Amino acid sequence: MIEPIRDQFRRPLRDLRISVTDRCNFRCTYCMPAEIFNERYQFLPRAQILTFEEITRLTRLIVRLGAVKLRITGGEPLVREELETLIAMLRPIDGVDDLTLTTNGFLLPQKAQSLREAGLNRITVSLDSLDDAVFRRLNGNRSSVEKVLQGITAARQAGLAPIKINCVVQRGVNDHTIVDLARWAKDEGYIIRFIEYMDVGTMNGWRLDDVVPAREIVERIHAVLPLEPIERNYRSEVALRYRYQDGAGEIGLIASVTMPFCGACSRLRLSPEGELFTCLFATQGTDLRAPLRAGASDEELETIIRGIWADRTDRYSEVRAAQTTPRDHKVEMYHIGG
Ligand code: SAM
Ligand code: SF4
Ligand code: SF4
Repeated sequence: MIEPIRDQFRRPLRDLRISVTDRCNFRCTYCMPAEIFNERYQFLPRAQILTFEEITRLTRLIVRLGAVKLRITGGEPLVREELETLIAMLRPIDGVDDLTLTTNGFLLPQKAQSLREAGLNRITVSLDSLDDAVFRRLNGNRSSVEKVLQGITAARQAGLAPIKINCVVQRGVNDHTIVDLARWAKDEGYIIRFIEYMDVGTMNGWRLDDVVPAREIVERIHAVLPLEPIERNYRSEVALRYRYQDGAGEIGLIASVTMPFCGACSRLRLSPEGELFTCLFATQGTDLRAPLRAGASDEELETIIRGIWADRTDRYSEVRAAQTTPRDHKVEMYHIGG
């Protein structure tokens, strides 16, 4: 196993999130509100987006520095044409233990089989409610629940397992539907992860009052479907885990607002245009595309990446926990993909 590089707090580099596009076919109110991301919005032009060869080269270098888990994200990763080709290019990289993808599920009926054949191990599908009206309000009326369920079924049939479901919980928006969602996931054998609504980006008008604390989420589910806590799978796992007392299934909680986990954060994020971010709440990244396209050698690129991680001191969520107002000028979620 490669000895990972470490940052200023001795945190190892273990995970790489690769955002392959800033575009999306949904307009989730908490991520890409339709009023802002309308037809006049300027997405990145194609020439500025890294090619699959460029992504693969950078990934190989980052894996050499310690990353063992790769997650493809976006925007919506499945709107990037021929994503399967990228999966097939990343799969053989020596040292990668896990290759997965987070998607809104809309395009999975067409894509699940080819993604699996290209070497994708497993998948996370976002689904915030089983109530169609609630879900449509959340996604800017771009998709029905039915459509996402079809995508999840396609992923299951293609053998992408285990399937995880992500649900962002917002008070007064979808929190009244979480028990139904938990019950459905339990019955279907999916691991559902409830995510505290975060102050990522600057456009969703986040307020602390909109957050339903993980503790409350657990209590509300436990009251109907009894739960008990279980250990994390590994030290840098961000989800708190609970299993059902009847032995059938488990849930995860991503409590980044009320129980921040910066001390164990081992993630590096690559944006579609080749910037590296060391935190989800970063105000700026480091451009790797310019040196890459100017002909930098692997050694030169590796030196830059090493330096970025070595200098890293991010612990935004821990600092924010002591405050009530979010930081300004943060990178947007649809840009670096969560
Ligand atoms: N489009 C894909 C999707 O929705 O799954 C991948 C990208 S999306 C940015 C990754 C994850 O971030 C999704 O599960 C989404 O629900 C979550 N997310 C987006 N904005 C968020 C916010 N403000 N707070 C918490 N989670 C958020
Ligand atoms: Fe698109 Fe995912 Fe953001 Fe929703 S959360 S707008 S599906 S990128
Ligand atoms: Fe990691 Fe930044 Fe999130 Fe803390 S706030 S867990 S450092 S991404």
